[in-house]
Amino acid sequence: MPDMRDVAQAILSGAPAEDIAALPIPESYRAAVILRDEADMFAGLPSEEKDPRKSLHVQEVATPELAPDEAYVAVMASAINFNTVWTSIFEPLPTFGFLDRLGKESRWGARHALPYHVVGSDGAGVVLRVGDAVRNWKPGDRVTIHCNHVDDQDPSAHNDSMLASNQRIWGFETNFGGLADLTVVKANQLMPKPAHLSWEESACNALCNSTSYRMLVSAHAAPMKQGDTVLVWGATGGLGGYAVQYVLNGGGTPVGVVSSADKVALLNEMGCEAVIDRKSEGFRFWKDEHTQDEGEWRRLGKRVRELVGTDPDIVFEHPGRQTFGASVFVAARGGTIVTCAATSGFMIEYDNRHLWMKLKRIVSSHFANYAEAWEANSLVAKGRIQPILSAVYPLTEVGEAAFQVHHNLHEGKLGVLCLASQEGLGIDDPAFREQVGEDKITLFRRHGAA
Ligand code: NAP
Repeated sequence: MPDMRDVAQAILSGAPAEDIAALPIPESYRAAVILRDEADMFAGLPSEEKDPRKSLHVQEVATPELAPDEAYVAVMASAINFNTVWTSIFEPLPTFGFLDRLGKESRWGARHALPYHVVGSDGAGVVLRVGDAVRNWKPGDRVTIHCNHVDDQDPSAHNDSMLASNQRIWGFETNFGGLADLTVVKANQLMPKPAHLSWEESACNALCNSTSYRMLVSAHAAPMKQGDTVLVWGATGGLGGYAVQYVLNGGGTPVGVVSSADKVALLNEMGCEAVIDRKSEGFRFWKDEHTQDEGEWRRLGKRVRELVGTDPDIVFEHPGRQTFGASVFVAARGGTIVTCAATSGFMIEYDNRHLWMKLKRIVSSHFANYAEAWEANSLVAKGRIQPILSAVYPLTEVGEAAFQVHHNLHEGKLGVLCLASQEGLGIDDPAFREQVGEDKITLFRRHGAA
């Protein structure tokens, strides 16, 4: 019986597309999962003690049947996203509820409601098979995968698919995610792999890069103008590392907030000169669990003015409860707070007087539609946006990788090798890589290794 090792060997030895198309699809594959019967394993523990190393398992799972609008992709590499941390600590809710709801929708949806959840919302690999309704992709295509899972037969999906009533995040609200040797995706999640990047450099971008693109570039959220000042929280994190690049590319001035001297140095190397080290400068926006410290908001605002001479036109928000009051306060008159998350808590408190009296806006954003993800991917392929990969783990150590992200011990993105046997494989256009510059492409990786 063929297994995924045969598939890996064919890909790694450069087999032509017709040979890839002829490969039998193995009946099972290796995947990172959480288990339904362990969903209560961390009951009563504080978040910090919920340990992804205990809940994430790597095991064989059955290959699901392929729907007509889907593709099997051999995953060469994937990456950790914060949503895998949420899934693995069963917060704010166990994700099996999402799978069960999808399971009730259709015969194809029913495949997803299983005793295990294959996690992961990023990936790069090779198309092995496509369903009968797939027109634009074929076996052998080298692809990256974005995570917007939409049934495009629903009319609500056709203005902006992020507004679709059946919009889901692949590998978070669906099963068969990317932290595995094989994945099942809708054909409208596929995008061309950037030819100058390795598998792991290609796999780490789509989720965070597309999200930051929608937040700061697309008309759907807070499109930045040339000359705008943008305060970026977590500026060397997954979202922030792309956000800073978009601000610099678009002729804006980023003010990056980070929490270590190392991260300050990394931002400076990226070309972000205005940086606030929130840890060494001792910013603390809550006096206690119930009371915010307006003095600290003012101190932050003053610090931004000292650095760049103005208030931020846009605040790039995702930490949530810990920072949101400060974000609303420091935004310029008429400025925008664009938010896509709430890592430190989703019950938000801010002083509404500062919002309305200064005509500020809060704009929500969530991942990206196919067009936005495609544009963000094209910018990576053109060498205009660099991967922010800082470290790479084998799939067997996926729990440790998620632990690092959970505890904010990482920079940028953590890659995960699935079928790729080592780092650095999959570069199809070394001449273009040289043109873009090894130093730029591997900036976070060199920093992570230092
Ligand atoms: P990440 O790689 O962990 O980066 C987040 C950064 O935020 C950290 O590097 C940290 O930087 C900063 N941070 C964390 N806690 C903070 C706090 N209490 N106060 C100030 N800064 C804090 O995560 P990510 O991939 O950027 O994702 C961030 C959040 O966005 C997560 O909750 C994730 O689930 C969510 N997200 C949402 C979407 C969407 O489509 N809606 C997409 C991607 C991510 P410093 O310690 O250096 O300051």
